[in-house]
Amino acid sequence: MGRMIKSWIIDLRHFLLPDGKVAPLPPRAERLFAYWTEIVSQATQYDDPTTLRCRRRPGRKPCKSLLTIFFDADNNDVLWFCPRCHDEGRIAGWEDTFWDNGGLEPEKPS
Ligand SMILES: [Zn+2]
Repeated sequence: MGRMIKSWIIDLRHFLLPDGKVAPLPPRAERLFAYWTEIVSQATQYDDPTTLRCRRRPGRKPCKSLLTIFFDADNNDVLWFCPRCHDEGRIAGWEDTFWDNGGLEPEKPS
């Protein structure tokens, strides 16, 4: 309501070919896609702190703030935002992609 923040909402599967490789993208989209996949990669390294920094350049100055990355408890989407410039987004469809480091397999009965 009234928020003028541009939010990125993407689904990684829309960028992948049937064999799981990344579809050919124009350079700008390719850079954004690399950023999103890095977010997923860091989000699923559950034990490691986030080191990814904001890519935006508000007022032509690099923001570079540490991103906050977490999961949507309802549908497991990866959510991220920049606490400084308020860039934010949602990434769906990341499970079992190349960038999913989680490997959350069901526990084997012992
Ligand atoms: Zn920022």
